[in-house]
Amino acid sequence: PMGASEQGLRSPAVDGHTRIVRRMTTAIVWFRRDLRLADNAALDYARQHFERVIPVYVWDPDSLGDWSPGAAARWWLHHSLARLSERLSERGSRLTLARGDTAKVLGQLLDETGAEAVFWNRLYDPAVIQRDQAIKKQLRESGYEARSFRASVLVEPWELLKADGTPYLVFTPFWKQLQKRWSPPSRCPEPRELAGPSRWPTGCSLDALELTPKLDWADGFSDRWTPGELAARRRLDRFVEEAVADYSEQRDRPDRHGTSRLSPHLHFGEISPAQIALALEASGELPGGQGRLSYLREIAWREFSTYLLYHYPHLPDQPLKDQFGDFPWRSPSEYRADLEAWQQGRTGIPMVDAGMRELWQTGWMHNRVRMIVASFLTKNLLIPWQEGASWFWDTLVDADLANNTQGWQWTAGCGADAAPYFRVFNPVLQGEKFDPQGDYVRRWCPELKGISGPRVHQPEVASEQGRSYPRPRVDLKRSRQRALDAYQAIRKA
Ligand code: FAD
Repeated sequence: PMGASEQGLRSPAVDGHTRIVRRMTTAIVWFRRDLRLADNAALDYARQHFERVIPVYVWDPDSLGDWSPGAAARWWLHHSLARLSERLSERGSRLTLARGDTAKVLGQLLDETGAEAVFWNRLYDPAVIQRDQAIKKQLRESGYEARSFRASVLVEPWELLKADGTPYLVFTPFWKQLQKRWSPPSRCPEPRELAGPSRWPTGCSLDALELTPKLDWADGFSDRWTPGELAARRRLDRFVEEAVADYSEQRDRPDRHGTSRLSPHLHFGEISPAQIALALEASGELPGGQGRLSYLREIAWREFSTYLLYHYPHLPDQPLKDQFGDFPWRSPSEYRADLEAWQQGRTGIPMVDAGMRELWQTGWMHNRVRMIVASFLTKNLLIPWQEGASWFWDTLVDADLANNTQGWQWTAGCGADAAPYFRVFNPVLQGEKFDPQGDYVRRWCPELKGISGPRVHQPEVASEQGRSYPRPRVDLKRSRQRALDAYQAIRKA
């Protein structure tokens, strides 16, 4: 790209006039969900074209409408900001934190520091796009340079379209196109030093953002998770070394460590999909090796979810398939008690309860189990998928509007390339297949420890032998039929 000075960009208006300056000196890099120094396009651009860089994070939950980060994600964000701030300090820089309306905060910071430009990496949640477009326009109208970059996806969502110019709604052709359009960069370096201004803006403390939960609920998260860029890279390296080759066989086994657990790191941009693709490329496995390819395919599902949300911004609230708008869900007064039992992991279906308790205790759940608990909620309990999505939103450390929406719509049968509604997961059979010894269930439902082997998946066995373990809230066979009948109603309509 052309240097800022070559473009003769204008500086802020002085006495009502704008003047052309030869040398731009200070730029703000506005960090968002790109909490890393390596492979950070906005940061790279600022460093290359400006003498001084001021890294900034603005906590502005009101600008995100209904989808400001949930409690578990806030916990992660708090720790991730702390790590980013340390890493910047080690490079002679500093992370300025602020709270409030983003446009106002950026305006104040520009005034306070005399910076001439603001750079950031793009995100694709509908409310974020709206906010960022307004900010970009406002900054440019005031004479600042404002520019955004691609850093969280491999290909921009508007660059991949079908031959007729419309978006893909089926994953496989999307994935084929993605592979054609994208190749990994040769390297993703990080800066060793970062020059800053002689006087830093005031900002506020991390604690003043009040991101950590008031309850002690998240205390156990730190046993399981280390937020931050370095931890993300270590996790990726270990996964590539130890697990990727077996990924296609192991990825459906919640009783094993077969997946990368990079989802919260990816959500907060502590690591980028390009870095992942590069690490896979450099790994010993043969190009096209099954593990590597099936892992990249999941990264492409993330890409597909973001793509769908970009093209269909109503998806967090509305089903992609219109006819599901009239689906005869039960009413809130009918389902409230069942919903609470599901949230608390007390449905009496061991595999479902194990998953919901893993979620509550660790802020994460294995993908196979997410599908099982989501199918149980939307089909056996006939509760709208939005209720489940909203619980996940608050309790997952990796809560991601695009992936969560797509995961729920896919399981409920109303999304793009979705599992057909009539395919109802049987949580007992799923448990026997993917947790064949019952270890996963016993780990999260310790009151079932006395039941050995796969019998632990049987609701009758569990409720008879497990001390204080509840009886099943629904009969699996009858509730399945009720779901199929409900589906028939919208099919006929
Ligand atoms: P790996 O198997 O190691 O996959 C690597 C990465 O690929 C993941 O970190 C993730 O970024 C991406 N990925 C994997 N599977 C999917 C998928 N099915 N869809 C989109 N991206 C995928 N993922 C989230 O990141 N945030 C969510 O809020 C979320 N909600 C979900 C809700 C439901 C009902 C379902 C069925 C799935 C949801 N997923 C969500 C997708 C998936 O379950 C998680 O990304 C995955 O379990 C994370 O674990 P991992 O990092 O070990 O995955």
